[in-house]
Amino acid sequence: MTKIRLIHGDITLLAVDAIVNAANRSLLGGGGVDGAIHRAAGSQLLEACKKLNGCETGQAKITPGFRLPAKYVIHTVGPVWRGGQDRETELLSQCYLNSLELAKQYECRQVAFPNISTGVYGFPKTKAAHTALSAVKDYLTAYTGFEEISFVCFDQENYQLYKDLLPSFFSQDQITF
Ligand code: ADP
Repeated sequence: MTKIRLIHGDITLLAVDAIVNAANRSLLGGGGVDGAIHRAAGSQLLEACKKLNGCETGQAKITPGFRLPAKYVIHTVGPVWRGGQDRETELLSQCYLNSLELAKQYECRQVAFPNISTGVYGFPKTKAAHTALSAVKDYLTAYTGFEEISFVCFDQENYQLYKDLLPSFFSQDQITF
């Protein structure tokens, strides 16, 4: 059974097989978690990203982690919230599913996610948390090869939301707080 971990903190510090980056379509760096990941990984990450030719919203691409403790960075592009009539929920769900698919292809056993789209992209946090948890739960129903999936919440609001919501998606003995 895949373990689910909730972490309140900085995703760049995690020594897991893959951390997921909430990138933008250029993949050439930005603010928020993207900026933190590029700073921690070093300039080689930007060089590797330049070769990827960007990424569509909802899709994912992978690079090494370079100076990060994580082996890989999976770059996914969340949707910008535009009121909910623009397939935002479906696209956010695709971010989680496509990231996990890539992690599986690269034989990652531990994957850590930030709260994609809930920063400057403005996706409502409660809806984003439901979407993230539901997508990951669906994926884990079909694929049992992951050891642990972590949800890394940087802000207190997301941390509390996930803490409250996790037990309605996963069993108590599966979750580590
Ligand atoms: P987006 O453009 O997808 O909204 P942001 O980086 O602005 O991306 O925000 C996504 C989430 O990442 C936010 O919830 C923010 O609090 C969080 N975040 C910012 N820095 C870090 C970090 N170092 N580790 C984990 N999460 C972070």
